[in-house]
Amino acid sequence: MSAIAKNIVMFGPPGAGKGTQAEILVENHAMIQLATGDILRSAVKNKTSLGLQAKEIMDRGDLVADDTILGLIEARLIFLSRENSDEFGIIFDGFPRTIMQAKGLDKVLRKLKKKMDAVINLEVDEDILFDRIIKRSSESDDVRDDDNADVLRRRLDVYKNQTAPVLEYYTKQYNIRHDIDGMQDVDNVSQQILALLQ
Ligand code: AMP
Repeated sequence: MSAIAKNIVMFGPPGAGKGTQAEILVENHAMIQLATGDILRSAVKNKTSLGLQAKEIMDRGDLVADDTILGLIEARLIFLSRENSDEFGIIFDGFPRTIMQAKGLDKVLRKLKKKMDAVINLEVDEDILFDRIIKRSSESDDVRDDDNADVLRRRLDVYKNQTAPVLEYYTKQYNIRHDIDGMQDVDNVSQQILALLQ
């Protein structure tokens, strides 16, 4: 297992393949995935107070409050830094989703003497993606509550209005943005990600 002790953001609209690419990196390299959507879904499943609070918001396709998300991420990063995790890179998947979250993350990273190394922007054709997600969810038994056409449309709107500006933030502030054609097959995308991390 080769070490890529880099902290990265996996960026892109819903369905762009962020989770898939993060999992490939985790399987083959010394990296840890922090996926806020997964953390929230598990809270919903376990009916924790966070889950009860988040479910309705997630089912609408809106964003959970910045403070809540930042609290979650900070707690996990503090835990990881105690676990001697400096040899591991962290993949932020589905976070930050607002400028507030990006600025909050900067603060936490500074406190822990860490930094963001790269933002990987998976560029996709949203119309093709939309049809693909709806088709997949109509064929699957394991459908997410937020994978129907109306909610997906809302999630894409939220992405455009609140999340896409985060990309500009990382470009202007740190110049660490890398665009990758996310419409290629999964292996090609992951090879390109790997090439730019090495
Ligand atoms: P995802 O699995 O990343 O698509 O996230 C599913 C849903 O969880 C989103 O539509 C939001 O409602 C919520 N969520 C996930 N990550 C965040 C975040 N960083 N900030 C706010 N809400 C989030």
